[in-house]
Amino acid sequence: MQVPFYGHVRQYHNIKGEIDKNIAEVLESGQYVMGPMLSRFEKELAAYFGTKYAIGVGNGTDAIWLTLMALGVGPGDECITTTNTFFATAEACWVAGAKVVFVDCDPKTRNIDPKKIEKAITKKTKAIIPVHLYGQCADMRAIRAIADRHKLFVIEDNAQGIDGCGPDFKQGELSDAVTTSFIIQKNLGTFGDSGAVASNNPEIDRAVRRLRNHGSEKRSHHSYGFNSRLDDLHAGILSAKLKHITAWTDQRRAWAACYNEGLKRARRFTLPYEAPGYRHVYHLYVIETKKPELRDELLKFLNDNGVDAKVHYPIAIHQQEGFPWGKKARLCGKQRNSERNAASCVSLPMFAELTAEEVDYTIEKVMEWDKKG
Ligand SMILES: *Cc1c(COP(=O)(O)O)cnc(C)c1O
Repeated sequence: MQVPFYGHVRQYHNIKGEIDKNIAEVLESGQYVMGPMLSRFEKELAAYFGTKYAIGVGNGTDAIWLTLMALGVGPGDECITTTNTFFATAEACWVAGAKVVFVDCDPKTRNIDPKKIEKAITKKTKAIIPVHLYGQCADMRAIRAIADRHKLFVIEDNAQGIDGCGPDFKQGELSDAVTTSFIIQKNLGTFGDSGAVASNNPEIDRAVRRLRNHGSEKRSHHSYGFNSRLDDLHAGILSAKLKHITAWTDQRRAWAACYNEGLKRARRFTLPYEAPGYRHVYHLYVIETKKPELRDELLKFLNDNGVDAKVHYPIAIHQQEGFPWGKKARLCGKQRNSERNAASCVSLPMFAELTAEEVDYTIEKVMEWDKKG
């Protein structure tokens, strides 16, 4: 049996009528960039987040640096995030011209460890960028409290966490902005690239709208800006998909529950930790081998047996070649938990359109490996 890692085509077939209808509507409208479908999707997205504004942009990385720039964060400033994230979080800070200061992740949630943030704050710190890694929200209450004490901005990198929430907070409620990515492999993904910024702050809304479109608010009038737009075809696809995101998340969570049950007797690896009351959206279902040196063996065993498991991410940011790239980044403290995560994590197939047979087969193979040791 072959178990794929992604179900993009299955998802398309399930809602083909809705997607094709929106694509045809855009094609027939003759308006493909900054057209009515984009406005419609932006309204739907703001309503979905419960924020006043949502702005479509070119991708999830741009969403972060456009927000930083909108907030006036740039050269001479510092942004705090964690080494346990996808590279783009850090990249976005550099594009904005700010220095990135990294703190370690929490060993259980694998999100930024709020206890380590305050030590990283200097006079130059302007923003904290927590990442909702693998689909579980960071500890936003603790992060908001720190940001308030030090008057810092908070930007949620929600590329992996759409449709999640905390026990007593929603995304966007405790931050200045939520950024997200709609690249195909994300939980809400289009057939290509795009992203968005959601916020309650009218200044962020206005500035990001201007920056994404050549610094223009009025035809032929420009201040500095860029070209980072979400085009209408993708907006149409995303508008069709947004209606299903909650059901897809529920299905991901149901598969995660099956994995949790089927793998609970594991001896050689640990299961993902779901913090009490959090709605983990399982962008990725990540197990960790207790001995890091066994990770590659597990990965190979699964791949050899038809299970397309992967690793997110094998190299923590500060372990990438050339770090810290001149003086573009700084570590605050040891990064033991991020390093451990990078060395021992394995992502099992996880998407709504998996079948029970595929989940059972994956469980069977993982447990077969577990019993070998
Ligand atoms: C995917 C991702 C991004 C970047 O999104 P793109 O749309 O690929 O630019 C940023 N941060 C995290 C955590 C991601 O997973």
